[in-house]
Amino acid sequence: MSEQLHERTKEELLFKIKEQQMLIDELLAEKAAEAKLDYPWKGNLGHWYWNIQTNDVVFNPLKVEALGYSVDQLPEKIPYDFFTNKLHPEDHEPVMDNMRQHLKGLAPVYEVEYRIKAKDGTWKWFYDRGKVTKRAEDGAPLFAAGIVFDVSKQKSKVENLEDLTSSLIELVDKDELTQIRNRRAVIRELKTHMIDSAVKGKQLAVSMVDIDDFKHLNDTKGHVFGDYVLKEIAKTLECKLDRKGIVGRYGGEEFLILLPDTSKEAAEKQLNDCRLAIETNEFLKLESLTISGGFTLYTQGDHEDVLREADKNLYKAKANGKNRVIG
Ligand code: GH3
Ligand code: MG
Ligand code: MG
Repeated sequence: MSEQLHERTKEELLFKIKEQQMLIDELLAEKAAEAKLDYPWKGNLGHWYWNIQTNDVVFNPLKVEALGYSVDQLPEKIPYDFFTNKLHPEDHEPVMDNMRQHLKGLAPVYEVEYRIKAKDGTWKWFYDRGKVTKRAEDGAPLFAAGIVFDVSKQKSKVENLEDLTSSLIELVDKDELTQIRNRRAVIRELKTHMIDSAVKGKQLAVSMVDIDDFKHLNDTKGHVFGDYVLKEIAKTLECKLDRKGIVGRYGGEEFLILLPDTSKEAAEKQLNDCRLAIETNEFLKLESLTISGGFTLYTQGDHEDVLREADKNLYKAKANGKNRVIG
């Protein structure tokens, strides 16, 4: 500072002194708090002080060291945008907005989580929280201070847990053998679509499909082949239904099919297309492989009532000679 003192005007010098005094006050207050609290969680904690008027930022080493810079490599004065320029593009605006809201006095604190680019190009997660500590008489913010945590480790743990959770959810909903929805998942879809149908006044066709004489197939060709047939039938049902169609393995060799926003005629057509694809079974070249289906349009009652109706029609299809669809 001593270099060009004589060239500065009195106002400039007074301003400079005031600026230094503010920083000293902040640091002294911080020191007192630190002595009181002893910051047992100091490890990954950084502090920052921002002189809003001059745009200078003062900080303890964590914030830059976590980013791969050593303090002696940095210019003496670090402008605010040294950090903001390194923010992840998706986080930049929310961070700025959070700070603007706080500076305007619309939010009691500035509090954000963001990704910031380290010197080596990787992203670090920081949790940053601060507050305007001095305002001018007209309310304009003069000085802000805050703390920043490097939370990259915690974030990556959370991300791993999220990945794990979503793969578990997928596993929980998937039938292990056929890889289509299991009973739990398809019943959940049924309940959801029943509500949707009631709210939007759209038709919902619900069908129960059962493989004909599957026991015989198992007995003559073996259970391993039976399993393979089940998988192929599940695949055929999935690809024969239209975009909105949903299929799940209800149990054993029974499948539950949901056709949202589908009329009785359209449902009958789709189910018959499935039935014919299985009867011709180009994938297996079996002489006799057929399914029967019963379906109903949801009008009232709970999901068990709807399943009972579809099941009744399936029973009729079986009683009337199998390889047919009745609704
Ligand atoms: P229907 O035409 O009246 O439906 O006769 P069905 O023989 O298909 O019916 P039934 O209920 O008598 O037998 C169903 C068979 O499905 C019995 C069981 O061995 C077979 N099954 C159920 N789950 C599986 C499975 O996961 N793998 C194999 N391979 N077979 C299964
Ligand atoms: Mg059965
Ligand atoms: Mg059967």
